[in-house]
Amino acid sequence: MSRRDRIREKIAARTVEVPGLLDTPCHVWTGPTSGETGRGSGYPRMSLDGGTVAVHITAWVNENGLVPPRKQIDHKCRNRLCVREDHLEMVTHKENQKRRDSSRAALICEYTSHEETRIAA
Ligand SMILES: [Zn+2]
Repeated sequence: MSRRDRIREKIAARTVEVPGLLDTPCHVWTGPTSGETGRGSGYPRMSLDGGTVAVHITAWVNENGLVPPRKQIDHKCRNRLCVREDHLEMVTHKENQKRRDSSRAALICEYTSHEETRIAA
């Protein structure tokens, strides 16, 4: 088995399929994460070659090769724990930031309308 296949299998062994924002289900990581609070928390982690790596980035690199400098791997499905390669996309830091802001704004909108509904009712 190639190293690439071994990494694929290692990742697949610890994921479950869960419906998400996209048409295809997310492959949600059930192994360790980068912690539950703070910036950069909630990302999947695993050990590889004696060190700890981010699983979603490893999954992307395993299929597509090196992530160039100043580029990041973003979740199209907005689920940090998803490690499905085709739910991931390489973007610039700026694009990633912009998306994060707009999804946060969408969440605030949703929350606000719920509040208004409750007040009206
Ligand atoms: Zn996903």
